[in-house]
Amino acid sequence: MHESGLADRLLALAEAEARARGKRLVGVKVRLGALAATAPERLRADFEHLREHHGRTGAALEIEVDPDRPSGVEIVGIEVAD
Ligand SMILES: [Zn+2]
Repeated sequence: MHESGLADRLLALAEAEARARGKRLVGVKVRLGALAATAPERLRADFEHLREHHGRTGAALEIEVDPDRPSGVEIVGIEVAD
């Protein structure tokens, strides 16, 4: 199995934002709108894959599905720690 690049890009953006704050990433919240080209299960599976097979951060993933919102995939928040 190989993951799509989406989870990787989302994680990279969230990690960069955490670094910019001088912290490490512990959680990321993602919203999937009506135009999201992925399903929550797929995104979660891709995150798990990155964590288990690519040594990426152990950031917790929270997914909010909002089919009434005319948007794609958005990061709506990150959690950081020292
Ligand atoms: Zn892989």
